[in-house]
Amino acid sequence: MSLCLNPDCLAVNPETHRFCHKCGQKLWLKGRYQALKLIGQGGFGKTLLAVDLDKPSRLHCVIKQ
Ligand SMILES: [Zn+2]
Repeated sequence: MSLCLNPDCLAVNPETHRFCHKCGQKLWLKGRYQALKLIGQGGFGKTLLAVDLDKPSRLHCVIKQ
């Protein structure tokens, strides 16, 4: 699964998609970070669990918006 990075959308897309089926935005941040799920949400923004596709080990990381 791949989460849309558009803060107003956050649609869940199939892993194979490169663009959001709902809003059309690119799903991979800088072409390498794929958001997996929303792990936090507060007054300052959202925190997303992501995977770094540029690393062979597919390290997990966190994206803050
Ligand atoms: Zn979207």
